[in-house]
Amino acid sequence: QPVLALEALKKSYNIGKPNELEVLHGIDLSIKRGEFTALVGPSGSGKSTLLNLLGLLDQPTAGELYLMGQPTRTMDDETLTAMRSRHIGFVFQFHHLIPAFNVLDNVLMPMMIRHGRPNAEMRERALQLLDQVGLLKFTDRKPGDLSGGQQQRVAIARALMTRPDLILADEPTGNLDTQTAAGVFDVFRQFNEAYGCAVLIVTHDPRLSATCDRTITLIDGNIASDVHEPGNTAQT
Ligand code: ADP
Ligand code: ADP
Repeated sequence: QPVLALEALKKSYNIGKPNELEVLHGIDLSIKRGEFTALVGPSGSGKSTLLNLLGLLDQPTAGELYLMGQPTRTMDDETLTAMRSRHIGFVFQFHHLIPAFNVLDNVLMPMMIRHGRPNAEMRERALQLLDQVGLLKFTDRKPGDLSGGQQQRVAIARALMTRPDLILADEPTGNLDTQTAAGVFDVFRQFNEAYGCAVLIVTHDPRLSATCDRTITLIDGNIASDVHEPGNTAQT
């Protein structure tokens, strides 16, 4: 069973009557468990729109989206929120860490939202994830004390906290230099291999998309190509 399956998914934006702007024209797509995928395409091709639909942050205009085999079109907001927090981890270009919280509490955030005060097991998991991203020494620091690459690693650890089946990342290396960006991609790859979670990353950098196992190219709201090719992790 795929993590995500899209059938003839369309999205239009209401830009004032009588005009509607159709941005995605009928996307068919399936993401399997453990797939490490890059989503590329020119600016305005619909990547962010698609990512918002995949993350259940926005609803399609037509078509169906299955998350873990379940059709989501008719789900109410409460169910969508539950599905999202149960199955999906998000990483954004600007990490959205909470400046006043230390690194450990930032990683614990998704758990605090779900369960209130974190217990010892949650803390242990957060510390393990921070260890895996090489930041165990920085648990007491504030995000502002860290470099951009380190902050993004914290955001990745946070996204993994709920053990998602799918990680969605919107240009997570957009504001990082080449070497730091490659390091952040390695962290995604490491979790992908360790836990089998599917990873889908929007990126503009062809050197980074080349390290992915699959590259989906969006042009003008259609999938222009979808290439499966085991990524060369040694390249990063
Ligand atoms: P990309 O992420 O590939 O740059 P987007 O999904 O951001 O593409 O945008 C695709 C198209 O949809 C663009 O023409 C953009 O102007 C339009 N668009 C995006 N969001 C909105 C919105 N909220 N309302 C109206 N048009 C939008
Ligand atoms: P095991 O059966 O090997 O003990 P667990 O499911 O108990 O595996 O996970 C052990 C640790 O691995 C957890 O504390 C957690 O930090 C991490 N982990 C497992 N699966 C995931 C996942 N999908 N995302 C993030 N962390 C995970």
